[in-house]
Amino acid sequence: MKSVAIIGAGITGLTTAFYLKRQGVPVTVYEAGGRVGGVIQSIRKDGFLAEFGPNTILETSPKIAHLVRDAGLEARKLATDPKAEARYVVRYGRPIEMPGKPLGFFTTPLFTAKAKLAVLREPFIKPRRDGVEESIAQFVVRRFNQEFLDHAIDALVAGIYAGDPHRLSLPHAFPKLKALEDNYGSMIKGQIFGARDRKKSGEVAKDRAAKFSFDEGLQVLPDALSAQIGESLKLNTPVTKLTQAGDDWRVSTASDEAEFGAVIYCGTAHRLAELVIEAAPQRRPTDVFSEISYPPVASVVLGFRREDVTHSCAGFGMLIPKIEGFKILGTIFSSALFPNRAPAGYLNLTSYVGGARYPELASLPADKLVEVALADLRVLLGVKGKPAFVHTAFCPHAIPQYNVGYGKYRELLNDIESKAPNLFFAGHYRDGVSLGDSIVSGVNIAERVLKTLNC
Ligand SMILES: Cc1cc2nc3c(=O)[nH]c(=O)nc-3n(C[C@H](O)[C@H](O)[C@H](O)COP(=O)(O)OP(=O)(O)OC[C@H]3O[C@@H](n4cnc5c(N)ncnc54)[C@H](O)[C@@H]3O)c2cc1C
Repeated sequence: MKSVAIIGAGITGLTTAFYLKRQGVPVTVYEAGGRVGGVIQSIRKDGFLAEFGPNTILETSPKIAHLVRDAGLEARKLATDPKAEARYVVRYGRPIEMPGKPLGFFTTPLFTAKAKLAVLREPFIKPRRDGVEESIAQFVVRRFNQEFLDHAIDALVAGIYAGDPHRLSLPHAFPKLKALEDNYGSMIKGQIFGARDRKKSGEVAKDRAAKFSFDEGLQVLPDALSAQIGESLKLNTPVTKLTQAGDDWRVSTASDEAEFGAVIYCGTAHRLAELVIEAAPQRRPTDVFSEISYPPVASVVLGFRREDVTHSCAGFGMLIPKIEGFKILGTIFSSALFPNRAPAGYLNLTSYVGGARYPELASLPADKLVEVALADLRVLLGVKGKPAFVHTAFCPHAIPQYNVGYGKYRELLNDIESKAPNLFFAGHYRDGVSLGDSIVSGVNIAERVLKTLNC
């Protein structure tokens, strides 16, 4: 049977390798770094659990639950506490709970009467059908109003992409919103009438999907997958060049070369730009992928004694729109979500700094990052005194921005794949930026490769 090389041991590459190996396909996984998981990293210290990258997986597809089951991790899975559903958005300098039920929207102090009227008007606004690619900001202002953009969507976009709503593309970054307008003529109508269609497909809307992690954090998943992949995983081994050799591919690293029946690139777009792809009759251009922006993000995990924080912190967390003038992008109330994220009597709060909004802040030294986060948390959550636990992490390339014009990169990936048989691309730079998207991407690419290799 032909063997397959997988480049990248983030969740996409590991999911792909795990399923190919289960079907008896010999795999080799190349990872540039010294550990598995990519941007996922959980660290247990002094009774606190610090998550540096993602905090939760949204169960948007049945394929995600199947992976947890197949990896033997069901007993270690932790659903988020149902009491921690409250989400806060900062307005007037304080966190205000988002309405949980549709009717609550009309009584919430989060929006003025003008914004509430804009929502009532939305179903009567004609859908745009001229094919022009809008940013999410343009779309929201067109269908709702400026207030809705500034006080809701801006915060949401910071929470998902750490991105800029004026640059993120509606069809690429928010395809489901675009589909609601295309298929139902309106967001509100689509929310109501689309429920039946989603049920049929088994897909769950992101705002309704169950969220989970594991007893020792999300790192449990990549660790379990890599344990099953075993010795065919090569850490500290960046792939530098791919050369087509008939139907096969030669994979080159600094110290080695090997041939495979297929190669799946599950790395990042910025590293793809550095990869040389020699596919007959000519080299495939990859340097264009360096244009894809991955703003830096720092995570600041702080532990506090319960009595040193005025706010209940009983919820998922708070999102902060830029217009409110704070420096952090938002905070996850980690200890409210899962039982063992902080010792008894303590809170674990994970804040994010940087992103497209303030990229220069993300690379501040650890003590300055803590100062930045503490200054905002004092005002917003009534934090007093010094934190009992501090851990920071800097991610120089966090989340790819699916900005207006992103289609050009997706088309180029399709083009390279179509002209270079048995070379495949998967992961967050192609198939969506959430952890769930990466898992589904890995499952799907494994199925495609199995079919191509006739396994
Ligand atoms: C700060 C942060 C918070 C997030 N929060 C959430 C969240 O709460 N929920 C959620 O659903 N999603 C979240 N995400 C997004 C989610 O974590 C990612 O989309 C997902 O983990 C990406 O997985 P991946 O395997 O596609 O890529 P990565 O995790 O980036 O893995 C790619 C791997 O490929 C390796 N690689 C690249 N090039 C080469 C090469 N040439 N040779 C060998 N190896 C190579 C890299 O070293 C890396 O390990 C967050 C992301 C960040 C950064």
